[in-house]
Amino acid sequence: MTAVDPAQSSVPPPVPPPPDILERLVSLCKQRGFVFPSSEIYGGINALYDYGPLGTRLRRNIRNAWWRRMIDLRDDVEAVESSIIMNPNVWVASGHVQNFTDPLVDCTGKCRKRWRADHVEAERRARGKDPAQVLCPECDGALTEARQFNLMFKTFLGPVEEAAAQVYLRPETAQGMFVNFGNVLNATRRRLPFGIAQQGRSFRNEISPGNFVFRLREFEQMEMEYFCEPGSDRELLDYWCKERLDWFVEDLGVRRAQLRLRAHDAEELSHYSSGTYDVEYLFPFGWGELEGIADRTDFDLKQHAQHSGKDLAYFDPTTNQRFLPYVVETAVGVDRIFITMLIDAYDEEEVRGEKRVVLRLHPDMAPYQVAVLPLSKKPELSAKAREVQGLIRGQLATEYDETQSIGRRYRRQDEIGTPLAVTVDFDTLQDQAVTIRERDGMTQVRVPLTELAAALGEQLDVMRRRAAERAAGRASAG
Ligand code: ATP
Repeated sequence: MTAVDPAQSSVPPPVPPPPDILERLVSLCKQRGFVFPSSEIYGGINALYDYGPLGTRLRRNIRNAWWRRMIDLRDDVEAVESSIIMNPNVWVASGHVQNFTDPLVDCTGKCRKRWRADHVEAERRARGKDPAQVLCPECDGALTEARQFNLMFKTFLGPVEEAAAQVYLRPETAQGMFVNFGNVLNATRRRLPFGIAQQGRSFRNEISPGNFVFRLREFEQMEMEYFCEPGSDRELLDYWCKERLDWFVEDLGVRRAQLRLRAHDAEELSHYSSGTYDVEYLFPFGWGELEGIADRTDFDLKQHAQHSGKDLAYFDPTTNQRFLPYVVETAVGVDRIFITMLIDAYDEEEVRGEKRVVLRLHPDMAPYQVAVLPLSKKPELSAKAREVQGLIRGQLATEYDETQSIGRRYRRQDEIGTPLAVTVDFDTLQDQAVTIRERDGMTQVRVPLTELAAALGEQLDVMRRRAAERAAGRASAG
């Protein structure tokens, strides 16, 4: 496989995240309203989560950033939204009914837990046990032989629960693009190469979910299938690896040093792939997949043509040839990006003898860009602060907060990553000026209200540049 990760040598080595960062983030997420356990008042449900007000905003920013880079800024990618439940033959043709399985082993000892056979070694290592011993990572009990377990959720379509009515919740969004290849081609009169992309929920009955929202049973994917001429796929695979890696660094502000591109070796390759790279991030539990970029050849179109009996060939009017396009796929999960961004942005420092927690999120990705804070709850200050919020609302995502002491409100905004805060005080009523406080250096400047929008724009630009430097590894944190 070609080396497509040339930048790695010019960035500093990765810094392992603090081992307890997930616990810290789980509590911050719950307390501040990023993530709640699903149906929590009933005791929750394993590997399912709900996103709160801030989490919903961050996820929306992630989806928008992907949409912008993959669709809006390009001429060659169309979007679709396909149904979650599809004709079950789709999953026969795709190979999921046959192959979408993980090897499962049961503990026969004390704890009786179920494990993914290929995770036992890492799970033992994570618990400080000898990874070479093939025993239960929890209680050292003996494990059963591995058997294959299909990860697709089954349900029934219509009122009769019989085998003929059995359908699946989609385990990936990709097949929605393949089965619509002909429709999109006819509707858009596209020429190769072009992509079809989709954002949407997927479902997998994972054997060992966990690590917060890293591995869920219901999650959201953003996938793109790039259809191309056979023979151009290798070069496009390299192109998309670089493009996707750059997106994490440039648009999301994830530190390059904490990312790597890893090629799958022959045993690891999926049944459909002739070459796959993973964009990986250094999580507290080790390197983990964020995004997969795969050369799927003409596997999927060939399978669907065969199983559906429909001709899915592409006609090239310049050569008068008909052929099945090859496909390079990019597949990433919103929830994994979400947890990656929180880990990557999380920082603690001591300020005047007190611990300060800051999320150093890219200013365009933070749930809010500007907090508007009246110094106190006095009605005249509240009214003025609402007026100030009105000046910037619509251009920037703003939050209004007048609940606690100003110091505590600054700390809260630091913890949720808000880049800028605008404080309205009693002087504002006289001099028509406000204070802008910036998250990273906690510097403050006073600006007249007439110049507020411009000043916020300039400060955000500075923070964008700083985020770019931090992500590229050209500056220390902050
Ligand atoms: P893994 O090896 O971690 O199980 P995978 O190789 O099966 O992942 P893909 O089928 O390539 O994953 O899925 C594409 C992307 O979808 C992944 O890179 C990840 O970001 C996301 N994803 C997959 N499974 C899950 C899950 N259970 N929870 C959250 N996100 C997921």
